[in-house]
Amino acid sequence: MKALCWCGKNSVQVETVPDPHIINPRDIIVKVTSTAICGSDLHLYHGMIPAMEKGDILGHEFMGVVVDKGARVSNLNIGDRVVIPFTIACGACEYCADGKFSACDNSNPDADKAEALYGHSGAGIFGYSHLFGGYAGGQAEFVRVPFGDVGAFRVPDSLSDDKVLFLTDIFPTGYMAAENCGIKPGDTVAVWGAGPVGQFAIQSAYLLGAENVIVIDDNEDRLRIASEVSRGQILNFAKSDGVIDELRERTGGQGPDSCIDAVGMEAHGTTLDALYDKVKLAVGAATDRPSAFRQAIQACKKGGTVSIPGVYGGVLDKVPFGAAFGKGLTMKMGQTHVQKYLPKLLEHISNGDIDPSAIITHRFPLEKAAEAYELFDNKEQSCLKVVLQP
Ligand code: NAD
Ligand code: ZN
Repeated sequence: MKALCWCGKNSVQVETVPDPHIINPRDIIVKVTSTAICGSDLHLYHGMIPAMEKGDILGHEFMGVVVDKGARVSNLNIGDRVVIPFTIACGACEYCADGKFSACDNSNPDADKAEALYGHSGAGIFGYSHLFGGYAGGQAEFVRVPFGDVGAFRVPDSLSDDKVLFLTDIFPTGYMAAENCGIKPGDTVAVWGAGPVGQFAIQSAYLLGAENVIVIDDNEDRLRIASEVSRGQILNFAKSDGVIDELRERTGGQGPDSCIDAVGMEAHGTTLDALYDKVKLAVGAATDRPSAFRQAIQACKKGGTVSIPGVYGGVLDKVPFGAAFGKGLTMKMGQTHVQKYLPKLLEHISNGDIDPSAIITHRFPLEKAAEAYELFDNKEQSCLKVVLQP
């Protein structure tokens, strides 16, 4: 089959690789009909996440049709149309039972590596390095889905791939980020990053009762979509005299009730700390560029919440922890518990509360995936979200 393989820093290529097959009795094989490129894939593309190997198949946002299943999968049939959460979870351990699917204890065969780095291991993730299981990803014609009985959700034929594809990751991720804010009616939420995750965080914050959502980015095209589609109030940081001051002004001197960092480890900017991060990273003296996170802490109202869907990988420098402590902030973060949110969000799509397809700007055949990565990375042609079709 054809699959998009990681070949090294800033290098990916569609290659011919062996077809996947059933290994364990709870596996299913999915023939991919649609798959997307995520901001998280860019961290791999840029070589920011360790433990990638040449030839690793990328992709964790994919859906398709069940073409084979193991002996213990009784709730799915060959031919079923399914969406697949990016987090691989057994559905039976103490964490899964508690709805914390991205902390599954049984799905990461590389747990020892993750434990050495983080103390404990999270769940396995499709196409996300040998820290998270080294699983082949879904930017391919076929994928093996472990624990398919709990890791595949049937979707109705009446909903197109475009409408349900983002249930695999970015819609639940934006939703969990907003839910983690504990939004109360009348709240103002600030969202850093108008990328796909930021767009769903804004829309989810409104679904959960926020009165105002302010979105911060310097990408005009994305801010326009954040305003027109997601109904965010825009703050272009490149045109602002200071994001923290401006947020204070727009919230009657209080700061936003909660702040969502939908940027993560590769923030850019021209503030002193952002330039400092860039230099430190370039000489290998830092792992992450956390300038959006620093701003979120500094801007947040006393007693508020900083919610962090943006991915971080290592040890963060110059984080104003004293400010977080002094204001009594709550911080919530992590890989999304997709399996927990997916059924409810599918209902929101079916009811017409939200149309996730509105953020798709580009479409490529799988063979042109390398070109698509370059375009998404450089944010050329107003690119916000790319869908690949095998
Ligand atoms: P993206 O790269 O498309 O978008 C990031 C946006 O942040 C860009 O529009 C960029 O211009 C903006 N930005 C950069 N620096 C900024 C700054 N200083 N202030 C404000 N905006 C800034 O990525 P995405 O697909 O939207 O994903 C966003 C983050 O969420 C990534 O870190 C990704 O890895 C992470 N993510 C996490 C999960 C999870 O389970 N927690 C799931 C999916 C994605
Ligand atoms: Zn993703």
